[in-house]
Amino acid sequence: MKQKLIDRFCRYVKIDTQSDPESFTFPSSEKQFNLANILAEELKSLGLSDVTVDKFCYVMATVASNSSKESPKIGLIAHLDTSPSLPGKDVKPLVIENYRGGDHIINESLGVVLRESECPELKNCIGHTLITSDGTTLLGADDKAGITAIMTAIEYLVKKPDIIHGEIKIAFTPDEEIGQGADHFDLKKFGADFAYTVDGGFTGELNKETFSADAAIIEVIGRDIHPGTAKGIMVNSIRAMAEIVRRLPLEMAPESTDGYQPFIHPTSAQGDVSSSLIKLILRDFKTEGLKKQKQILEAIIKEVKELFPDTEIRLTITETYRNMADELAKYPHVTERLWKAVKESGVEPFWKPIRGGTDGSRLTAMGLPTPNLFTGSGNHHSRSEWCSVDSMEKLVDCIVNLVKV
Ligand SMILES: [Zn+2]
Repeated sequence: MKQKLIDRFCRYVKIDTQSDPESFTFPSSEKQFNLANILAEELKSLGLSDVTVDKFCYVMATVASNSSKESPKIGLIAHLDTSPSLPGKDVKPLVIENYRGGDHIINESLGVVLRESECPELKNCIGHTLITSDGTTLLGADDKAGITAIMTAIEYLVKKPDIIHGEIKIAFTPDEEIGQGADHFDLKKFGADFAYTVDGGFTGELNKETFSADAAIIEVIGRDIHPGTAKGIMVNSIRAMAEIVRRLPLEMAPESTDGYQPFIHPTSAQGDVSSSLIKLILRDFKTEGLKKQKQILEAIIKEVKELFPDTEIRLTITETYRNMADELAKYPHVTERLWKAVKESGVEPFWKPIRGGTDGSRLTAMGLPTPNLFTGSGNHHSRSEWCSVDSMEKLVDCIVNLVKV
């Protein structure tokens, strides 16, 4: 199976499917159809019946049940696109046989090194077959490792009809990397009772918790006038904006927090004398905590308003996504099943909170409980992105156990 995984994975990563955050179309880039259509053909040739690629580039298919028992319809989901943060064209996968541990130079002239210190999981990969890019592009293991594992598991099940399973629903989705992967997901057509995204990190890592997220905008309105005659008249919004940014709690910054700690993160600040704008993202695993973050911002604004009484300061907060844990807790069998399937594959499972969101958080909120499962890869969105073929092999096993009756 190992060679099959290498061949399939290398074939998929060579297809450029980068999504485009600047685009106003859906999918954000036409080229995502290139992989979507290939996957649809492969699913058809495996004998799956209702294989479709819709106009939004969602690939969907069903593996028919071979069980006489009534069993739930389980969904498997991975995303087609790769991150816009680095080039995704002309990916040249390099296969490293028998990884010896320690640092591995990927591209000497560009200084791209796979560093054990930055990726402690590598310690568990000694003897594995690893794959990286040549350092000029990302690899795209996020999430083509997930697609490869799902496709290989399906092929395995089709060829082994003695493994009894219920109906399995497959979806490959576009534009996950720009946060739009669930936008046009047709839940009714998909028809699964619950699902799993295969889009996670290292071997054994499972995710059922994400941040709850809001976006905040603070507008500061001042008054501009010729500086030569400004005394007592000019109100410089930049000064008030700077005071607001200075007062944001440093101990609640993304650069000083991890694990379950929340953060308030200013992502951009711009302005001139007459008006300034600060954009922030608010993150907390407890949705309640976002209210506290709002109060922190309101208190800062009140203080700054006292310093600059002639400014007008407006705060607007909008909801981005919510922690899927609260909703998933209503369906304990979904996460228990995942834990059991991974354990049965001889992999030690562990739950890890995601300091971000997944398509699963949106899908769970839309009514399809969807925790996340590892892909056996690391350093996503970077030139030193890598995946372990040995871990992918385990992942195929986990998927098969997951859908078995
Ligand atoms: Zn991903």
